[in-house]
Amino acid sequence: MRILDTEIEKGKSYQLSINLAKSHLRNSMHVPVIIHRAKKDGPVVLLNGAVHGDELNGIDIIRRLISKGYHKPKRGTIICIPVLNVFGYLNVSRNFPDGRDLNRVFPGTKNGSLASQLAYRFAHEIAPHVDLMLDFHTGGADRVNAPQIRCADTDKKALELAEVFGAPFIVHSKAIPKSLREMMNKKEKSVLLFEGGKSSVFEENVIQHGVAGTIRVLNHLGMTKELKESESKPVTIAKSRWIRACYSGMFHPLIENGSQVNKKDTLGFITDPYGDFKRKVKAPFDGHVFCVNTAPIVYKGDALFNVGVTTANEDLMPEL
Ligand SMILES: [Zn+2]
Repeated sequence: MRILDTEIEKGKSYQLSINLAKSHLRNSMHVPVIIHRAKKDGPVVLLNGAVHGDELNGIDIIRRLISKGYHKPKRGTIICIPVLNVFGYLNVSRNFPDGRDLNRVFPGTKNGSLASQLAYRFAHEIAPHVDLMLDFHTGGADRVNAPQIRCADTDKKALELAEVFGAPFIVHSKAIPKSLREMMNKKEKSVLLFEGGKSSVFEENVIQHGVAGTIRVLNHLGMTKELKESESKPVTIAKSRWIRACYSGMFHPLIENGSQVNKKDTLGFITDPYGDFKRKVKAPFDGHVFCVNTAPIVYKGDALFNVGVTTANEDLMPEL
């Protein structure tokens, strides 16, 4: 196995890097790639964080796994890229300095934008070696995702591993065009996309779900000894819909993210600043709330709660 011009030998660890461009101060910018190949053959698993530079939970999930030695498997190879988008990370920004979203430029081009060049290097020098990728994301600034694995309902292998991962939710979702997940799926690589919490903060509960789920998957693949039983079986969301604000105003969510709700339950309310206007936001159907907008002030039409139904209950969600 040869990765980034380095022969990866059995029983050895490597600290490599993807070198792209220097900073404005001529400092070299590296994307660190940490690899350990066991003496015994087995699958190649990639743990990938911060495709979006301000999504921090995944970085700490991978850091904790490395610090506890889980990146050194009993068999196979583990590749860790805690921070793929180093440029966004340094700017505490989702995107590259020119505003490009790395997750919309795969598989990239050799001489394209900086983001496109990184995507190209990843596609050619990392992706071909990988059997399974765990890609760690969070919601945006105000949208908090309950810990969940997203995968296509057609990807049976990923669905099986999503059950093993044991996050509170499995959300059926198609890959976004030109995303890293879409590119990996086209190369017939399995992808578990973990979403949890929101950008720019570390969330202990989310990080713990990410660490434990990854260990369960590695254990399932025979790569690590330790087995942590999941406390509960994931709820699989087959279809979902955003509940949008019917009024502009101050938004006060009431329901805890991840809760099961019944039709007509009050999820939150919207007020004006003057004391005589208060309207409830109600659940339009039975389901599970798995993403909550925490913006204090909203406009009519803003997405407030993402409510999903399970495969068995798809008919509970009315047609629009
Ligand atoms: Zn993301």
